[in-house]
Amino acid sequence: DKSVPLETAETSTICSYCSVGCNLKLKTKGELLVKSVPDKESSVDKGLLCVKGRFGFNMGQKGTRITAPLMKKNGEFKEVSWDEALLFVAKKTQSISSRYGSKALAVSVSDRYTNEEIYLAAKFGKQILGTDQVFSFNGFDGGIEDVLGYDASSNTFDELLSTEVILLVGSDIMHDHPIVGLKIKEAAAKGVKLITVNPFASLADEWADQKVCPADSVSFIKEVIKAVVESGRIPSDNSAAGFAPLRESLENIEVSGSAKEIAEAYTKAKRAIIVFDQNRVTADGAKLLADLAVVAGHIGKARSGIIQLKPKANSQGLVDMGVTKGAQEIRTNLDAGLTKGMFIFGEDIGGWDLSTLELLVVQDTHLTETALTADVVLPGVSFAESSGTFTSSERRIQRLNQVIPAISGLTNWEVIIEVANAFGANLAYCCPECIEEAISADIPEYKGIVQGEEKTVFWPVHGSPVLYGEKFHFADGKACLHTVGEGPLFKATTHTDHLENTFVDFLKEKKIV
Ligand code: SF4
Repeated sequence: DKSVPLETAETSTICSYCSVGCNLKLKTKGELLVKSVPDKESSVDKGLLCVKGRFGFNMGQKGTRITAPLMKKNGEFKEVSWDEALLFVAKKTQSISSRYGSKALAVSVSDRYTNEEIYLAAKFGKQILGTDQVFSFNGFDGGIEDVLGYDASSNTFDELLSTEVILLVGSDIMHDHPIVGLKIKEAAAKGVKLITVNPFASLADEWADQKVCPADSVSFIKEVIKAVVESGRIPSDNSAAGFAPLRESLENIEVSGSAKEIAEAYTKAKRAIIVFDQNRVTADGAKLLADLAVVAGHIGKARSGIIQLKPKANSQGLVDMGVTKGAQEIRTNLDAGLTKGMFIFGEDIGGWDLSTLELLVVQDTHLTETALTADVVLPGVSFAESSGTFTSSERRIQRLNQVIPAISGLTNWEVIIEVANAFGANLAYCCPECIEEAISADIPEYKGIVQGEEKTVFWPVHGSPVLYGEKFHFADGKACLHTVGEGPLFKATTHTDHLENTFVDFLKEKKIV
């Protein structure tokens, strides 16, 4: 009876926008998402949500959703059965593989997909197709992992509240990671010294004790390192390799007054945390920031380390699941005509010439610019239709719960299994938890995630929430200090995607921006 109002139900899940990992409760009426409210018991956000978490919860449902497989016939998409779509994809892929080899195939996966979905997509690419071209368009080309061992934050967000100095580099924090921004604001109000180093003015400058807008060159971080070294700080040979060449590379660097001031505050503090945005700081800049933390001895302790803010809800999980290739290498192969078949799970890319592909398969929620160029489009789902886990920028693994049914009847992980099984893979996972068991067995830092049924757990699951307390993540246990040449400190462009663009359109429509 349509006149009887539906009961409102409520399901706890995780925000799908940025990598802070705020907890939210989605209210539904029937299969309709009606509201997003904060989870007051959340240990991540303490019951706060930014505008995206609060109002962007149903962006994935907006517009015309893809509800069935589509195949391009005579230049137009036609709805087809799963069997027809998958048979076509498998045959065409096998033909490409037999003519050019499996290296002519590539698989990309979104960092908004869950760990379980990314794990399956990577398995599909690496093991079933046999290609090492498994990547994300949002993948990064090196950074702090070259110095420390892990491409991950060493410390947690809450430690910002009780450190002594925060060095915030290349971050528009209230725009990109607002709830961490609020923690930094609270820390500054409590007396934690805040230093911002940005190419632009940002809200955080208003709370800062010192703000620097340096020339866009890694030289500025080198200046700070040099000043730290001149103050007498040097790492022991037991803790770090590569100090001599690093010091040598700093010989001709002239230390500015602002770099000296930063170095003084940073070295005088017993505890200090560097926070930077990986989407805005170059790989060389990130390496130097890691060098700085190691040289000054501000790593491997509670309230002392590096927090690396990644862009999307599961950018950390992407790395953890072994998708570590940056897009540039894949693009070079594509432009050289070496890649002939590509599977894109949930990403929309602009500016890439995909016309040389013989086969493009895209899974997405909408007919994005990329999906429009595909031969086959498979329906994808939004976070509200998904179960599994996301890993935030503080290495916190949290559980998403499916709030509404998948629009096409299949969730993303089920579609990836269908695709893989069309190649004879016989993957038999029956739920996200079953995939977690495989993740737990394959990925040492995730060992035990299934048993740890708590709402939230940091990796390494049975280890300390602070990384590098005993050793760095290299065979010899030492940090590997890097020397970098001249180059920019900040990136010229940052990635946005379909979800973010839809949200911006929504804000414009509501005349909020
Ligand atoms: Fe979502 Fe990030 Fe905002 Fe938290 S800070 S509500 S995770 S967009």
